[in-house]
Amino acid sequence: MGRLAEPWYTRETGLLNHVLTTRQPIILYASHTDFEQSPVVPGLIQEGTRGVTLSLGRKVVLPLTGTLADTDHVLGHELIHAYQFDMVTTRGSPEPGAARLPLWFVEGIGRVLVART
Ligand SMILES: [Zn+2]
Repeated sequence: MGRLAEPWYTRETGLLNHVLTTRQPIILYASHTDFEQSPVVPGLIQEGTRGVTLSLGRKVVLPLTGTLADTDHVLGHELIHAYQFDMVTTRGSPEPGAARLPLWFVEGIGRVLVART
């Protein structure tokens, strides 16, 4: 997972001109079934959900599914959300800044910056 995440880190740090303020937690599950039962993610995880980034704690949570290329794509997409959340959260504030961002904005940037080529 580190080998997949490091190139995304380099790419997204450059694209967004932002260095993450703390280490990035990534929680990886062996299967989608395990992911759906994650105690880390509040609420239900739908069958079609491929990954989640929690604004609180900025945790990226995803399962290993499909091909390595699919997992890599989801990882890149979720890491964009980690950057977004990090960029809008005021240091020292218990409130995640992402709550102020509309979903269409968060997901739109995620899709554009991690578009498949
Ligand atoms: Zn997303």
